[in-house]
Amino acid sequence: MTSAALISGGCPIPLLASAGARAQGEADGEPVLRLPAAPPEALAFGHDALVVCDNLVRIYQSETVEVQALQSLDLLVGEGEMVALVGASGSGKSTLLNVLAGVDAPTAGRARVDGHDLTDMSRREQVHYRRHVVGFVRQQASRNLVPYLTASHVVDLPMTIAGVPRRERRLRTEGLLELLAVAHCADRLPVQMSGGEQQRVAIAVALANEPRLVLADEPTGELDSESAAEVFAALRTANQELGATVVVVTHDAEVSGQVARTVAIRDGRTSSEVVRSEGTADTPATAEEYAVMDRAGRVQLPREFREALELTHRVRLALAEDHVEIRSDRREGA
Ligand code: ADP
Ligand code: MG
Repeated sequence: MTSAALISGGCPIPLLASAGARAQGEADGEPVLRLPAAPPEALAFGHDALVVCDNLVRIYQSETVEVQALQSLDLLVGEGEMVALVGASGSGKSTLLNVLAGVDAPTAGRARVDGHDLTDMSRREQVHYRRHVVGFVRQQASRNLVPYLTASHVVDLPMTIAGVPRRERRLRTEGLLELLAVAHCADRLPVQMSGGEQQRVAIAVALANEPRLVLADEPTGELDSESAAEVFAALRTANQELGATVVVVTHDAEVSGQVARTVAIRDGRTSSEVVRSEGTADTPATAEEYAVMDRAGRVQLPREFREALELTHRVRLALAEDHVEIRSDRREGA
C-alpha cells in the first residue's frame, strides 16, 4: 500500500493518499484511504468583534484574602451594539468595566478593544486608549464632573488635552450638549444641575473625543425613574446617532428591557443572555433567554433547575436528535 510520513506537530502520521490526488494504489485496484479534507482555517475567537474578552481573570489579593472577581470570563461585543450588563452585587460587573476602560489590568486572559490589547499596553498606549478609544461614565455623577467647571468647560477639557483646535471644540461641545438635551446647562456648575442632567453632561464628556466604545457603570443607579429614562435615552442617542458601541451596567429592568442584548454575569463569568428582536407589522417582538456556553463547552445550569431535579456534582448527558438531555445521576427508583 502506498504510504508516506507526514510530520505534524512533531509526530509522524502515516500518510495515505493526499486528498484529491490519485494515489498509485488506486490505479492498481487497491483500496486507498484518504486524509480528511483540511478544516477551514480557524479564525481567532472574536476576530471581528470590537470588544473581546477571552478567559479574563482578575484576582484581587490582600494580605488575608484573595477575591476572584472575574473567573475566565468570555464576552464578545460587536461594533455598533448596545449591550446591557446585569448581575448581582459583587458579581464582577465594575471589575469588567474597569478592565475595558483601561484603568485596571487583568490578572490573566486577554482583553482586546478595537485592536488594542489591554493586557499588554505601554504607558503611552494606555493614555491614547483612554483618551480616544473609550469613554467612561461612572455611577457617582460627582466623580464624572469637576465641581468648579461648567458643563461647557468640562466637555471641552478632554478635547483641549487632545489638542483639538478651539473652534472645533466649541462646535462639538455645543453639538453634544444639544444632542443630549442639556444645552440649557452649558454655563452651570454641577451643583446647579439635577442628577440626571449631571449624568447626561458626563455622557457628553465621555463622547467628546469620539470614542468607539462608551462604558457606563450603573449611570442611573442614583436617579429617580424619570431622570434614569432621560440618561438612558442619551446613551441610546450615543449609540444610534453617533455610532458608539455602548456597554451599560444596570440594575434597572426597564433599561435592560430596551436593549437588543442583555448579558448576565454571575460569579465573575457571563452566564446567560437575553436577545430581543424588535417586532414588525407581521411578527411580534420577542425576547429569548440563552445560557452562555464557553469555548470549552461549559454551561451553567440555573440554580432553580439544579434544585428542582436535585442535580449535584455529576449528571448524565445524552445526545438526542436536536437537543442534549441532562439527568440526575441517581437511578430511577434507587
Ligand atoms: P459588581 O460591580 O458586580 O458589584 P465588583 O466588580 O465591584 O462587582 O466586585 C467583584 C468582587 O471583587 C467583589 O467580591 C468585590 O468585593 C471584589 N473587589 C472589587 N474591587 C476590589 C478591590 N479593589 N479589592 C479587593 N476586592 C475587590
Ligand atoms: Mg459595581
